[in-house]
Amino acid sequence: MQTSIIGYPRVGALRELKFASENYFKGEISIDELHQTGANLRAAHWKIQQENGIDYIPSNDFSFYDGLLDTACLFNIIPGRYQALGLSSLETYFAMARGYQGAQGDVKALAMKKWFNTNYHYMVPEITDSTSIRLAGTKLFDELLEAKQQDIVTKPVVIGPFTLLKLAKYTGVKQANDFVHDAAEAYAATLEQLNELGAAWVQLEEPALVTDLSPEDIALFTQLYDRILSAKGNVKVLVQTYFGDIRDCYPTLQALPFDGIGIDFIEGKQSLELVKQYGFSDDKVLFAGLVNGKNIWKNQYKRTLGVLQELSAHVKHIVLSSSCSLLHVPYTLQHETKLSDASKRYLAFAEEKLQEFAHLKVIGAQADPYAAIRYLQNEELFSSARFTNNEAVQAKAAALTEADFTRLPAFSERETIQKARFNLPLLPTTTIGSFPQTAEVRANRFAFKKGEISEEQYKQFNFEKIAACIARQEEIGLDVLVHGEFERNDMVEYFGESLDGFMFTEKAWVQSYGTRCVKPPIVWGDISRSKPMTVEYSAYAKSLTNKPLKGMLTGPVTILNWSFPREDISLKDSAFQIALAIRDEVLDLEANQIEIIQIDEAALREKLPLRKSDWQSEYLSWAIPAFRLVHSGVQAETQIHTHMCYSQFSDIIRDIDAMDADVITFEASRSDLAIIDVINECGFQTEVGPGVYDIHSPRIPSVEEIKLGLNRMLEKIDIAKLWVNPDCGLKTRGDKETWASLEQLVQAAKEVRATL
Ligand code: GLN
Ligand code: ZN
Repeated sequence: MQTSIIGYPRVGALRELKFASENYFKGEISIDELHQTGANLRAAHWKIQQENGIDYIPSNDFSFYDGLLDTACLFNIIPGRYQALGLSSLETYFAMARGYQGAQGDVKALAMKKWFNTNYHYMVPEITDSTSIRLAGTKLFDELLEAKQQDIVTKPVVIGPFTLLKLAKYTGVKQANDFVHDAAEAYAATLEQLNELGAAWVQLEEPALVTDLSPEDIALFTQLYDRILSAKGNVKVLVQTYFGDIRDCYPTLQALPFDGIGIDFIEGKQSLELVKQYGFSDDKVLFAGLVNGKNIWKNQYKRTLGVLQELSAHVKHIVLSSSCSLLHVPYTLQHETKLSDASKRYLAFAEEKLQEFAHLKVIGAQADPYAAIRYLQNEELFSSARFTNNEAVQAKAAALTEADFTRLPAFSERETIQKARFNLPLLPTTTIGSFPQTAEVRANRFAFKKGEISEEQYKQFNFEKIAACIARQEEIGLDVLVHGEFERNDMVEYFGESLDGFMFTEKAWVQSYGTRCVKPPIVWGDISRSKPMTVEYSAYAKSLTNKPLKGMLTGPVTILNWSFPREDISLKDSAFQIALAIRDEVLDLEANQIEIIQIDEAALREKLPLRKSDWQSEYLSWAIPAFRLVHSGVQAETQIHTHMCYSQFSDIIRDIDAMDADVITFEASRSDLAIIDVINECGFQTEVGPGVYDIHSPRIPSVEEIKLGLNRMLEKIDIAKLWVNPDCGLKTRGDKETWASLEQLVQAAKEVRATL
């Protein structure tokens, strides 16, 4: 049995790439040093895959920021405003990724979006009418040769043309179809070059194939590949899909002269059925995604072997593959010093997944795989209890009734009551919660974690930060204040650590975007809350100000979506358990005079199934109720806010309104304001705070540009419903740009108010 990895994580087991990049951005290391870090990581990742006997090792899965941005650059999709900066190619690349403000000019970053149903973000390629798509870069080839020099044969990987054209944003009149010819030629040229370099395989990633496809999409795909595949020569072409099944194009892929088709048998609900129904061509190789690239639980060999066996009745050539890139899981259990061996037994991060491939290879080679020692050990693990139950929580969840999901009185009545209570100016200003997690804030937390300072000292520092933050917010004139979240390393991890049922890692980082990584907790068992988690800091902040203070919580859907979920109970059951715990916190905050409570659902949109037919049945039917369960117990005068990162929710706008929050803030500055039209048209009742500037970049917005945005919003949104805020929390920013930006924001709100 042969094995294949779709992609390997790239930031480094100890986030070496993140630190090197950040140091490079700060001017502390040279570009050569940054390149060296990249080369070291690539070499290490290839080597460990080789050691585990992986037959198809990817190259070009490495990236300094994002794989789709790499693909855009490879094919010359670089908007003129970045080219005009006259920077080196890597600096131009970083300008597209992060924006640029300096001697050469002032440009915003490209838009950023969530990569399908993951928490990874890609940079949206921008195609103008004058974009000339052609093979212009060399990274794909360079990394193939680099591996070759290390005696490692790799399978170069690159995002395919269909997904590229589908995910790109078109700023002129031309659309995807107008670029088919150029894109096909560019990929054909790529195959020709790979041929010359002697590559055996190339992996073209087409995750867009697992979404709902129209006949036009299929035609677009076919047109592209008819041309591209004619150029393959001796290079074998693997069309790699992941994150779902390919029910709309399975026969199309079979009919085209691909040499390999990569199919996800973890998230692809219909994958197995498709193979059984249509068969699988003898002259193609099936790359069967059976080792979960998204979750951290050990592979159950029984299931994997079972599916392989079923497949083998229909497929001649099978390669065992990861279900998607391992980018979405942490590196290794090796640096986890605090997890017990008893719990580590159940887990597999990227390195351990490589071992699973090695084990499965050995098992598969036995005359009786089911008698292999590795198999028996694995089965023993899955047949013994993991001790995860909490009967009290289960009983509470079982007793829920409709009333627990309904907040009274209705929205409009609450709105009147709250306007009278808070008496805020029009266009009230606020922030999303966090303030910069500066080096001293992190140092304080680390010192406490390492036992170098007492809990008293640790908290004292946070209290001082809160006091300073409140004073400064008052000084610059914000209307609704926050405590600043200095005690939180991460909006999910913080709650996970305070709740029972979660498990924590020390180094299990996963890339979220660019240099930003997150460390998702693991839902280990039933979830419960044993004590208040946020009341002390929020109440302290409230004691310092007469302005309304917004308490900050993370909602159940986001906690679940940004954790590694259990696989032994349903997502719905886990979500309701978490919701019950957060509900207790909401009621405690309210009892402690916190009049406004924000329950972040930053990640609600993220796990929306990729296919529309699954939206309600698989997701919204429990996700929206889980949110309602959290806040339905508060008084009419308590104002509930929620926040969502990204504004790509026009298609579920009614569900968002049905969350029944009083105010929702969301990102809007990096995407066009299309969402505003939808809000206007659908009679959205919830008050809204579309972000007026981008916090993902250090750039300071001007008063004029904020005013421009606000005035555009006011054309569509009732002024009584509009809030003014940045588009997300400020934790990743520095102090200087944060306060400067917020001053501009308050000033812009004042100037717009003055014109009313
Ligand atoms: N309240 C959180 C913060 O400000 C929200 C973060 C987020 O939406 N990602 O950091
Ligand atoms: Zn956000």
